[in-house]
Amino acid sequence: NDDKFKKVISHAKEYGYVFQSSEIYDGLSAVYDYAQNGAELKNNIRNYWWKAMVQMHENIVGIDAAIFMHPTTWKASGHVDAFNDPLIDNKDSKKRYRADVLVEDYCAKIEAKINKEVAKAAKRFGDAFNKEEFVSTNGRVLGYQEKIDSTLKRLGKSLENEDLADVKALIEELEIADPLSGSRNWTDVKQFNLMFGTKLGASADSAMDLYLRPETAQGIFVNFLNVQKTGRMKIPFGIAQTGKAFRNEIVARQFIFRMREFEQMEMQFFIKPGTQKEWFEYWKEHRLKWHKSLGMGDDNYRFHDHEKLAHYADAATDIEFNFPFGFKELEGIHSRTDFDLSQHEEYSGKKLQYFDHEDNASYTPYVLETSIGLDRMFLAVFSNSLQEEELDNGTTRTVLKLPAVLAPTKAAILPLVKKDGLPDIAKQIVEDLKWDFNVVYDEKDAVGRRYRRQDAVGTPYCITVDHDTLEDNTVTIRHRDTMEQKRVKIDELRSIIKKEVDV
Ligand code: ATP
Repeated sequence: NDDKFKKVISHAKEYGYVFQSSEIYDGLSAVYDYAQNGAELKNNIRNYWWKAMVQMHENIVGIDAAIFMHPTTWKASGHVDAFNDPLIDNKDSKKRYRADVLVEDYCAKIEAKINKEVAKAAKRFGDAFNKEEFVSTNGRVLGYQEKIDSTLKRLGKSLENEDLADVKALIEELEIADPLSGSRNWTDVKQFNLMFGTKLGASADSAMDLYLRPETAQGIFVNFLNVQKTGRMKIPFGIAQTGKAFRNEIVARQFIFRMREFEQMEMQFFIKPGTQKEWFEYWKEHRLKWHKSLGMGDDNYRFHDHEKLAHYADAATDIEFNFPFGFKELEGIHSRTDFDLSQHEEYSGKKLQYFDHEDNASYTPYVLETSIGLDRMFLAVFSNSLQEEELDNGTTRTVLKLPAVLAPTKAAILPLVKKDGLPDIAKQIVEDLKWDFNVVYDEKDAVGRRYRRQDAVGTPYCITVDHDTLEDNTVTIRHRDTMEQKRVKIDELRSIIKKEVDV
């Protein structure tokens, strides 16, 4: 799986999807740029979400709030006081760790031990070897496994309690060493605030301390009443938005899974107090259905319900996805009660209430939130789509089986040769189709190599113009996934492609 993840990262670079930011200066850690194909894929994911959430729901509208917000916002939201991760400094190696990552590294080490024992036994017993039986009967291996299980359980508890003393005790008890240097000279476990600070204003005295927003949600809460009034929205209704968020993450790894500058797609759904349980269930199912609609394998998703809840929530679950490094959070669904609106009422001194005509009463609405990271969604789609296939003729091909609706380019138009008027016809097809789809023209190299290149970029269709086209206005259309080729009329191309990219 490590190998698979490395392939994902190098493929993303080689085929123009994701580059390291400021690469010529050796990059900036946990910051990435989306390249020519990546920007298209990202736009398509964002649009797919926006369409499902805003366009398809009469009672959800979209906004685009500023990244800078009045600094009191972050006091009201709780981010100034409680947006922390436990950080551990190793004095000797001068490295910083996040506690959970440190324990993950520790567990990975034990797991490596298990794998080693298993490999040794497999060699010794040959064909008769049964891994499950070996693990369940071999005391030492079982012991390792139990160690991992109990460590993760205790760690989960410590981190959710956010009790630094607990975290510290756990680290000491496990005698976890710095995974890189092997030394064990830990100093303090501290709380580290994840918000980036900056300044607004030119002069030193009048400059105002600001934060880059660590989530898009607050831009929705502070606009709740403006949108409700000007849009004449009736509860239940939602406000959606996509946009950049910034977090000074302590550890930067796992590519675009955890970035310092990333994009969120969030929707806050305002409801009547007391109805939160039903809406929580509704949005859980609805969001899972959205994920499954992309056809990336139903088994690749699971819910992880939170036992210990954040201070603002009365229920929370994650939709986890099977990334190359295992099941991890892709989207969060949170029942936030009236925490945010009440806090903003208190800090701003303005009423943020809704007058319910049916009940003839005012109340502070409750909120259900769905929050998904666009970059994480990108990684889920990209890593799931990247496949290597053995072909009948013994060769392998690399193919990026992106859902057609998300693919950056829907079709590549290829003249078989660069003469006899074939390029002109191919270019004319590009001219005709480009009003509806993103298409490309490619005439370089033998057609087989062009097919492989488009497979690796993830283009669902290749359309080849050959000498028969001159006679009967037909072309060959080749499907990326089945590699099936069909002869069709040029006039039919638009409807064939449309059928594939519509969901
Ligand atoms: P994690 O536990 O992975 O740090 P979180 O619980 O802090 O995530 P939320 O605050 O609920 O995440 O944010 C909602 C969504 O935003 C997450 O489900 C994730 O998809 C995305 N997200 C959060 N932090 C990052 C990040 N540093 N880089 C990329 N995406 C992120």
